[in-house]
Amino acid sequence: MRTFRPLTFAMLIGTCAGSVMMVRAQEASVPDTLKLRGMTARFAPTEIGADLSKLSASDRGVLARLIEASKIVDALFLRQAWAGNESMLLDLVKDQTAAGRARLHYFLINKGPWSRLDHDQTFVPGAPAKPAGANYYPADATKADLERWMQSLPEADRVRATGFFSVIRRGRGTGVGAFTVVPYNVEYQNELMRAAGLLREAAALASEPTLKIFLTKRADAFLSNDYYDSDVAWMEIKGAIEPTIGPYEVYEDELFNYKAGFESFITVQDAAESAKLAKFGGELQDIENHLPIDPAYRNPTLGALAPIAVVNEIFAAGDANRGVQTAAFNLPNDERVTREKGAKRVMLKNVQDAKFAKILLPISKVVLAPADQKDVSFEAFFTHILVHELMHGLGPHNITVSGRQTTVRQEMKEASSALEEAKADISSLFAIQHMIDKGVLPASLERSLYTTFLASAFRSIRFGINEAHGRGIAIQMNFLLDAGGFVVRPDGTFTVDRARIKEGVTALTREIMTIQAQGDYAKAKALAERLGVVRPAVQKALDRLTGVPVDIEPRFTAAERLLNPSASPATRRRVASKS
Ligand code: ZN
Repeated sequence: MRTFRPLTFAMLIGTCAGSVMMVRAQEASVPDTLKLRGMTARFAPTEIGADLSKLSASDRGVLARLIEASKIVDALFLRQAWAGNESMLLDLVKDQTAAGRARLHYFLINKGPWSRLDHDQTFVPGAPAKPAGANYYPADATKADLERWMQSLPEADRVRATGFFSVIRRGRGTGVGAFTVVPYNVEYQNELMRAAGLLREAAALASEPTLKIFLTKRADAFLSNDYYDSDVAWMEIKGAIEPTIGPYEVYEDELFNYKAGFESFITVQDAAESAKLAKFGGELQDIENHLPIDPAYRNPTLGALAPIAVVNEIFAAGDANRGVQTAAFNLPNDERVTREKGAKRVMLKNVQDAKFAKILLPISKVVLAPADQKDVSFEAFFTHILVHELMHGLGPHNITVSGRQTTVRQEMKEASSALEEAKADISSLFAIQHMIDKGVLPASLERSLYTTFLASAFRSIRFGINEAHGRGIAIQMNFLLDAGGFVVRPDGTFTVDRARIKEGVTALTREIMTIQAQGDYAKAKALAERLGVVRPAVQKALDRLTGVPVDIEPRFTAAERLLNPSASPATRRRVASKS
């Protein structure tokens, strides 16, 4: 299959009359320059860096190679998001008008001509509506066509077609032969060869053996398309440098949540914080044993303690640097690895610090009742994000539906991401309360826990409910309002009803995990449709947040210094302001 290259997406679009009409309809609603600048201002420019002075010269060389490889990853993700992205980017770079520069700036934040905070509204004239299947599937293929084709395939082929690391292209045949599976190492061959070369150079410079092994195996994976060994090696990385680079998250595939977007987080360890957080690992089985679900759905033996890393971000690229910035993640996503090895949690502490100070505190002053505002704390914010990552590893994952061994992700299809995010959020409130009740966490945390979550929910819903985290939060917000745990006051501010919040949290944890355990796609869809919406009272509060940034636009100062140590700060600023 390696030699076969199907028609490109751009060629198909060019001959499709329907697409042309779509373009005209979009042009009418493209925001003007002033509006676009306002949209861009929602991302507060923020310097993200870390102290690298304790690293050896060769470790700084490792980081520099990894940043170079990340820039390739950035370009790959751009192409994955839409086949027209690269040519549109070149057009925008050439456009010297004020409107052109504003569009370029916002294009780079969104990695495409659609505003991720605004239901993917088009902001560049001539761009089509955002394709739900990104550039992973043929532009003109319907979901029903693809599903029919996938179901017609023999088992082994279906696994490849629905797997993380392939795109679906037009085939030569008709009917069931209408599509073909193209693995990433063929589709992105040239870029992956270059990235693999940089990873090998970094491996040669690295002194930490576990880092050497990961970089070598990940370079191999780029060329073989078999990521298993390198995912396992990633779980075992120790030492100062903590890189995550490759195809991982499926959020950009809104059609099926099957295909992995390329991304990269180049980070360095925060050893003291990592040690502090590792103690939570000892509590996981006890939390699993107390999950408010049918005991048959609980996992009697969770895998060995999975590693937790608290790091500071040096550079992020691709799927990891588009729209809203990731504050923490849990990888790998491949169930073969998580079943045997568990998953590693990585918390981006400097990114979280920036978000708490620039966004969450200002939001809490607007949406919370005055008496509640003092209860917002970084400790609660940080702990919730940590436990959110832990909770992704708990609850149902590998399940049996009608006697068939399958996974929650496969059964929930495009509904899986939002439901999984909601599960991690709500069950982490449950888990933290459990640890407070046990005395593992201080009782003083209870007061700030729910109030900080409430303020944080507004931050997430502002991301847009077309995105998994935002939609997941909307489900929780509405469920807890209906349960009386969150209350809207007459003046439009929100407060926590301390007598009812715990019961609401337990009930929603039970509902979501039971849907997952039963692989009940219809129930998942119904829950998301009923509750994954922004209601009037919430919208009113959101409307009062004008002027508070929605997220940060990172400027990676440590990476700039690393790649260009001789440049003066003023030169670096000039270079940065061009992009
Ligand atoms: Zn999550």
